[in-house]
Amino acid sequence: MQTLLTLHSPIEDVKGVGPKYSQQFNKHRIFSVLDYLLHFPVSYIDFSQVSDAVETGVTKLYRIEILNWNISRNFRRRLTILRAKVRIGNDTYAVVFFNKHYLADFFKEHKTAYIYGHFEPVKHVLQANTPMLFSEQEREKLPVEPVYQRIGTVKSGKLKLLAKTIFENLAPGHDMFENLPAYCLSQRSFPPAADALQQIHFPEQYDPDSIELLKARFVYSEFFFFQLELQYVRQVFTSVPRHHRYKWPAEKKAAVLSGLPFELTADQNAALEDIQSDLQRPVAMQRLLQGDVGSGKTIVAFIALAAAVESGFQGALLAPTEILASQHFSKACAFFNASRVELLTGSTTAKQRKDILAKLKSGEVDILVGTHALITESVQFKNLAMVVIDEQHRFGVSQRAALYYKGNAVDLLVTTATPIPRTMLLSLYNDLSVSTIKMKPKGRLPIGSKIIPAKRRDRFYTLLRKKIEEGEKAFVILPLIEPSDYFTELRDIESQTPYFNKMFKGIPFAIVTGRTSSLKKNEMLNHLADGKLKILVATTVIEVGIDIEDATIIVIEDADRYGLSQLHQLRGRVGRGKKQSYCYLFPTPNITENGKNRLRTIETTTDGFKIAETDLKMRGGGIIAGLEQSGYLDFKIASIRDHLQLFKDAQKDALSVLKDYRSSVSDFLTTIDGKLKDIHFS
Ligand code: ADP
Ligand code: MG
Repeated sequence: MQTLLTLHSPIEDVKGVGPKYSQQFNKHRIFSVLDYLLHFPVSYIDFSQVSDAVETGVTKLYRIEILNWNISRNFRRRLTILRAKVRIGNDTYAVVFFNKHYLADFFKEHKTAYIYGHFEPVKHVLQANTPMLFSEQEREKLPVEPVYQRIGTVKSGKLKLLAKTIFENLAPGHDMFENLPAYCLSQRSFPPAADALQQIHFPEQYDPDSIELLKARFVYSEFFFFQLELQYVRQVFTSVPRHHRYKWPAEKKAAVLSGLPFELTADQNAALEDIQSDLQRPVAMQRLLQGDVGSGKTIVAFIALAAAVESGFQGALLAPTEILASQHFSKACAFFNASRVELLTGSTTAKQRKDILAKLKSGEVDILVGTHALITESVQFKNLAMVVIDEQHRFGVSQRAALYYKGNAVDLLVTTATPIPRTMLLSLYNDLSVSTIKMKPKGRLPIGSKIIPAKRRDRFYTLLRKKIEEGEKAFVILPLIEPSDYFTELRDIESQTPYFNKMFKGIPFAIVTGRTSSLKKNEMLNHLADGKLKILVATTVIEVGIDIEDATIIVIEDADRYGLSQLHQLRGRVGRGKKQSYCYLFPTPNITENGKNRLRTIETTTDGFKIAETDLKMRGGGIIAGLEQSGYLDFKIASIRDHLQLFKDAQKDALSVLKDYRSSVSDFLTTIDGKLKDIHFS
């Protein structure tokens, strides 16, 4: 039976959401009913507007008569192709579906049906590929059909049914279904959440303007909570005095530095001096360490942590993924006293975990390395003083706030390889000071980058093979795991495996994709490092920050499908040691002018800060849009560029709410009308 739902109900509570769906939803950060309902329709089909005249390339609702069905199979690509010859108006057209042969049973020949899609010329006929298909009865049931972007493999039709189930089972009374404090509602005269959501998903009539107005309150709420956290964290961190004192005399620092296998660059030294002066101030450190990929941020972070350990305190190092956490862990073991360094991630066993937590509390651990699970769980330290968050852009402001629990005003260093223009930093992260590492370590040769035309592919891989035989190691990056119905022009690992088997015959290589477990992935990376493997063929899952010193070649297939910053980050997997490294870029067959420009920029520029600037310019719409797309500002539905007024309103309201709010951090995080948790802490 379906239980009554509220905004905060977990998505698994909705009837029809099994483990398989909820897993996919979770992956898209949908955990609660509200998260689900914030996945708004991307468009609507207005059933009062049916067309009998085909306009090439325009997505419309067409009335069709199915003249006949034809099924064929493509065994190589494991596809069943269902083709219908249909009549629209007085002409005939083709409509094609993949792997949906059952449609032919439901939609009988000579019946009227409706499709929503667009026609393109294919071999002298106008053809619509995989449009949405509706029967006469379906059309009568709903005046306006919402169209959703699929979530994982869950398609629009199913998403609509789940939304329907939710609205049919809402607990009575709107107070259970509100995500904004009363103050905001009255200040901005927003409609109640439940009404607005229902109208957005199932409007009674098609009226885009009024739907946009209903969405405004949800855009506003994203901004509001973002601002609330930002301002709050800022107040907390700038007003809390530090209780711990560092004993980190120059001799100790010099001893650490002299033990390094290399000399620090001037920028690394300058960053360390910034940190050191922060540690002498009476309030906690809040510092952002930005530096291009491979510029050597890790060692700076380690030395900051060493200042804590040498002073008798504990330190924590947080990474965005398990792989990076375990890489940091092995490096930390080499740098610190290994017996006092521990790793805590999702794959730590319960027994190990218990053991580690006990040692943390008693102070037998100096450095704890882990994923961000480390700050959301009940991990207790004896005397945590210094926290480093690596690759900061994946962490929210809220997670920084949660850190506050862990120590008494801990000192915080966040590192990022995403260069952010200074003005932007100031307006968004005015609570952070910034150190920038621009120069690369001495003796580092710039990575040579080259576009390789598709016709030279065989010759290229033959040469690559030779290079590998001479001792080089390589990454080969492909965009897809398996063939896609939609991106037919892109290469996928599955279809290319026979080709690589042939080209790399006798060379140990492995395949790593999003489906590879972290454990396995880690093992393969280790094998690449120790030479048991020579090539990794992978999707983009090989993270930013992976450091395999003697991997010198990266091949990026279909390179123009990535953004500039992403290409630069991908390229940064190599060029991390003294040896000359290379990046080879294969364009897609239908490369656009913009795509060509991107590849040329990568070919001619190795400076990450310059590339970031170009990226922001090329994307248009200014810096903010670029940052949003880079994932730095991670709004679900809001966009500062499109909703600037709402952004300002929310900022103003957040400040007013905070002015009257004088309570503890934990209260803050769990209250604010009891709603904050559901919005940002999911
Ligand atoms: P990132 O800034 O991308 O996190 P890392 O900290 O992983 O880069 O450093 C990349 C590589 O450069 C590592 O192998 C590190 O040991 C090395 N490295 C760091 N600083 C220096 C330096 N001053 N001289 C030479 N090598 C360095
Ligand atoms: Mg790094």
